Amino acid sequence: MTARILVVDDIPANVKLLEARLLAEYFDVLTAEDGFKALEICNNTQVDIVLLDIMMPGMDGFEVCERLKSNPRTMHIPVVMVTALDQPSDRVRGLKAGADDFLTKPVNDLQLVSRVKSLVRLKTMSDELRMRAETARAIGIEDLLRDEGRIEEPGQVLLVDPRANSQERIIKMLKPVAEVTAISDAQAAIFEAAEQGFELVIVSSSLDDYDPLRLCSQLRSLDRTRFLPVLLIAEQGGEDMIVRALDLGVNDYITRPLDPNELVARTLTQLKRKRYNDRLRSSVQHSIELAVTDGLTGLHNRRYLDNHLKVLFNRAATRGRSLSVCITDIDRFKVVNDTYGHDAGDEILKEFAARLRATVRGADLACRYGGEEFVVVMPDTTAEMAANIAERLRMSVEGKPFVLRSSGQEINITASLGISCNSPNVETPEQLLKEADNALYDAKRAGRNRVVAAAA
Ligand code: GH3
Ligand code: MG
Ligand code: MG
Repeated sequence: MTARILVVDDIPANVKLLEARLLAEYFDVLTAEDGFKALEICNNTQVDIVLLDIMMPGMDGFEVCERLKSNPRTMHIPVVMVTALDQPSDRVRGLKAGADDFLTKPVNDLQLVSRVKSLVRLKTMSDELRMRAETARAIGIEDLLRDEGRIEEPGQVLLVDPRANSQERIIKMLKPVAEVTAISDAQAAIFEAAEQGFELVIVSSSLDDYDPLRLCSQLRSLDRTRFLPVLLIAEQGGEDMIVRALDLGVNDYITRPLDPNELVARTLTQLKRKRYNDRLRSSVQHSIELAVTDGLTGLHNRRYLDNHLKVLFNRAATRGRSLSVCITDIDRFKVVNDTYGHDAGDEILKEFAARLRATVRGADLACRYGGEEFVVVMPDTTAEMAANIAERLRMSVEGKPFVLRSSGQEINITASLGISCNSPNVETPEQLLKEADNALYDAKRAGRNRVVAAAA
């Protein structure tokens, strides 16, 4: 795992120290001696993580962080603030400025490396999602990013802590930002986390007869909880456990005695990040759907058909099952467009798709193949069954005129259909499709508004 880290500090000796440690771990290191230089580098270069000193002349670390986090170009870069041990209020200010993490001076080697690694891991995932989302330009990625930082709904938090009085305290501290469900049993917590829609799990490291690290690693490995952030509450002096927890993928930690402000700020940071990533993920999902869906009719598009037909064809072949294909083309559709206009034509295509969908089973794959041509792929369907379905479809089109919403005008529409079925003679999915297409051509030639089956 390699990444480019920007170290920002006005004292050259501090820069050298961090640089040397990071270089030893084979990170790529850039340095800046003040905030202005840091912002410039982040704006113009690809930076994966920023290690930011707070006390700097000109522009302090808080302001640098705020500026990074309010610029859409740089807001996704994780910022680690390097704070002085005797200034606990710096942490809260830093979190408010949008910092993702902290290191205390003098910087502990293990912590430096494990924090940086855990942030790189997180960023790699977000970057991947962002890239995919950006690829599909149809998505309002800008809106998505702009919304970051707003938490309207209270967070849903699961707290795993065996002590009732500690539970009560934490619930009270988080009251302004989250609804906390407290649970004492670690095993039960895993079930809860997997079943309910939590957005954050807070794990106390002092679990009776249970290893909190085991709980964390189980949360990380289960499919249902893999993306659920985990915040560890560590005991003072629990350095080793913290380092191991971060290595296991725990997102953040906080040390007892708990500072309510810090707990609230860290909780909010995790909630924000979770919601941001969830939205990225669903927008990726959405972009995948867009890529395989026909915009006008909502049916699958040709690209999807070409891919999925292969899968269905091979599956039918290995299982020795029937697979039928029906191609249908609206008759004299050009005349409809010429007479009623293109918008009317579109309306008819939509209605045609609706009738098609209503006629076929859920297991059938219905696609708009192009223009006024549609394809239905029917698994476990013999040639005879396919002929019946095609005839039903033909009647559903011819049987009732299409009514234009705008003018109320009624238009009679018919369609021609060609069907084919797999057999030892049909060797490829392309051939299966081609045979249905030939049959469709025959149907057109024979006078339209009819079903023709490919010769077996
Ligand atoms: P045939 O019975 O031989 O199929 O005659 P046809 O007029 O339906 O066939 P042709 O291929 O000559 O014309 C198809 C027409 O479909 C031409 C085009 O304007 C129309 N068409 C294709 N895609 C769309 C679309 O997305 N919207 C609309 N409104 N019309 C479309
Ligand atoms: Mg046509
Ligand atoms: Mg056509």
